[in-house]
Amino acid sequence: MVLPKAILFDLDDTLIRAYAQPEEAWTRLLNVFAAHLDAHDAQSIDRVRVAVMEEARGVWSDQAEAAKWRLNIPGARRLSVRRGLARLGRADDALADRIADAFTELRRTEYRLYPDAHATVDALRDAGIRLALVTNGAAETQRAKIERFELAHRFHHIQIEGEFGQGKPELAVYRHALERLDVEPGEAWMVGDNFEWEVVAPQQLGMCGIWYDPFGAGVPAHAAAQPTRIIKRLAELVE
Ligand SMILES: [Mg+2]
Repeated sequence: MVLPKAILFDLDDTLIRAYAQPEEAWTRLLNVFAAHLDAHDAQSIDRVRVAVMEEARGVWSDQAEAAKWRLNIPGARRLSVRRGLARLGRADDALADRIADAFTELRRTEYRLYPDAHATVDALRDAGIRLALVTNGAAETQRAKIERFELAHRFHHIQIEGEFGQGKPELAVYRHALERLDVEPGEAWMVGDNFEWEVVAPQQLGMCGIWYDPFGAGVPAHAAAQPTRIIKRLAELVE
């Protein structure tokens, strides 16, 4: 495999497992609140989960709104749970906020570095490849993850939406990172799990979009582009 001059990595659900598989996490969390929710069997818990997750989809569906919420994910969760409970005729903002905050805490405690992340990034760096970490989200939240998982010193450039002022898929985001690494788009790969942000947008600039698909979800139907390559493990980049 011929490696490029530079690689841009996504952080959440690429180097670390963060927000993947929310169904399972919500079910677990809502069970903790079963008594408060008057939900005494699996179906009642699932009704709440579906209501909350559908409201969350609504909150995240508008691109401009989503860009704001990315900087305040705990706030987006509070709103989704408030709306979810209201939809079920159980409006209770105080309870909703407790549930949402507990979910935020549950997710935070369960962030995990993917087992091959450090070794892969270090091997690429040792091979002389210029490396950037390009992540959406709030500065404080993302910096805390970068510190917790010892990532800062591994990259030549780190770019966080909350610090830079723009997030993926704005093309300015990739352009700035490429400039900082001193490479042309055709000399760089973007690696990540979000099809729109890590495949479609980078390819518009002439970069290669490497899609990380650890759960084997497959290319979305009616996708606007095909990934340059699909990987299920990060280590495939250096094999
Ligand atoms: Mg991601």
